[in-house]
Amino acid sequence: MPTYDLVVIGTGPGGYVCAIRAAQLGMKVAVVEKDPTFGGTCLNVGCIPSKGLLYASELFEEAGHKFDKLGIGVSKPKLDLAAMMKFKDEGVEGNVKGVAFLFKKNKIDAYQGIGRIAAPGRVEVKTHDGKTEVLETKNIVIASGSDVARLKGMEIDEKRIVSSTGALVLGQVPEQLLIVGAGVIGLELGSVWRRLGAKVHVIEFLDRILPGMDSEVARQFQRILERQGMTFQLSSKVTAVDSSGAKLKVKVEPAAGGAAATLDADVVLVAIGRVPYVDGLGLKEAGVGLDNRGRVNVDHRYATSVPGIYAIGDAIAGPMLAHKAEDEGIAVAEIIAGHAGHVNYDVIPNVIYTYPEVASVGRTEEELRAAGVTYNVGKFPFTANGRAKANLQTEGFVKILADAKTDRVLGVHIIGADAGNMIAEAAVAMEFGAAAEDIARTCHPHPTFTEAVKEAALAVDKRAIHM
Ligand SMILES: Cc1cc2nc3c(=O)[nH]c(=O)nc-3n(C[C@H](O)[C@H](O)[C@H](O)COP(=O)(O)OP(=O)(O)OC[C@H]3O[C@@H](n4cnc5c(N)ncnc54)[C@H](O)[C@@H]3O)c2cc1C
Repeated sequence: MPTYDLVVIGTGPGGYVCAIRAAQLGMKVAVVEKDPTFGGTCLNVGCIPSKGLLYASELFEEAGHKFDKLGIGVSKPKLDLAAMMKFKDEGVEGNVKGVAFLFKKNKIDAYQGIGRIAAPGRVEVKTHDGKTEVLETKNIVIASGSDVARLKGMEIDEKRIVSSTGALVLGQVPEQLLIVGAGVIGLELGSVWRRLGAKVHVIEFLDRILPGMDSEVARQFQRILERQGMTFQLSSKVTAVDSSGAKLKVKVEPAAGGAAATLDADVVLVAIGRVPYVDGLGLKEAGVGLDNRGRVNVDHRYATSVPGIYAIGDAIAGPMLAHKAEDEGIAVAEIIAGHAGHVNYDVIPNVIYTYPEVASVGRTEEELRAAGVTYNVGKFPFTANGRAKANLQTEGFVKILADAKTDRVLGVHIIGADAGNMIAEAAVAMEFGAAAEDIARTCHPHPTFTEAVKEAALAVDKRAIHM
């Protein structure tokens, strides 16, 4: 029977990064993956394919609407959706092959099949040809990730009623795309299909988009998306979809109850969030406890209720983000090896890869007010940033929230063309406990969008230069 120091179940960003770090630390490691390719949700049906389509559709829109303003004459761009999907698939393929290469390079054994914890120290792998292999191991890390959340009475067929997975492979641009849920995934995929020609209507149960994000950012972002042509129906819920006719008939009611209306759609995207995935792992029999939302219960060392069994990523509490899963993968490998791995949950950036992008790290104004923290706000709009003006990319702003007494940066929120890259500077600053003054006194290259971060830091002390 093969014997290991560590068996990782699941090869998403949590699992594969954990396996590599453990191998670096000298452990004998195996991974178990039930899907045909490595990389989990993120690489196969999440971050990577969605960013491929966001990139291609953004250029398609720019070619049609912006190039002429830059003096580039092109005829009206024609969409070749099959070729665009192929481009996206090649990006996925390159990434999943990369993970397979890294497993080989780090001498990690990869088992293809469904992993089940038969007992502490024992993982059973059921391969797709029906065979079972048993692995003996000192430690097990559960990195089984998440699955799409479903709505009662609304069967996802991945053709007309789709989850994010189906929305990444539509064979044609729907005339009318109705999205249930104004969260990150709905707005990203909504942007893709709107740019490619769909009429996109978003229904959201709450009275705002992007719950949990800074509300000023969310309001401005909604206005920008509306200007782009997306429409929103807030405080509303979808209660049924009739798929018997050529058009889907979608029943929508006010969230608080009341008269229902029926809307037509060609495709409905259910994007109401994700739920932890722990099916088939045998957790109950193994004695591994779950919380009331079905997530694996762990302590601050990612240890479950059973010695030698750990869990990370989307399968445990916390934001369902690839980089959070990766950092937990590194931390748990280091903890198992006897080192002091940890993740700072106060500094986990969050990015929406639309145009403009939205990015944040740390606390929102609402959270600071609720916690009774007094803070100063420094804000700087991209309309006053030289590079943004030169590029015709002036939408959005940088907002820095700093402690009123100590000036320590508590939160940074950005809407802007390159917000996703810019937020990394804020994360590093916060990780080092920077004050707004520290950012303000750091020389930023000119002309870049990052100067808006410096100016927002200056604005905390009411001394922005270009405003
Ligand atoms: C459309 C979309 C876009 C996204 N975009 C972003 C983004 O831009 N940035 C970001 O940070 N996050 C994004 N996410 C979220 C991100 O994909 C997840 O947070 C991340 O993949 C979680 O990593 P994980 O390792 O915990 O689990 P997963 O990536 O879900 O991987 C879990 C793996 O475990 C395997 N598995 C499960 N059970 C078993 C078993 N019993 N035996 C063997 N294998 C098993 C699964 O097959 C899977 O491969 C996106 C998600 C979606 C759906």
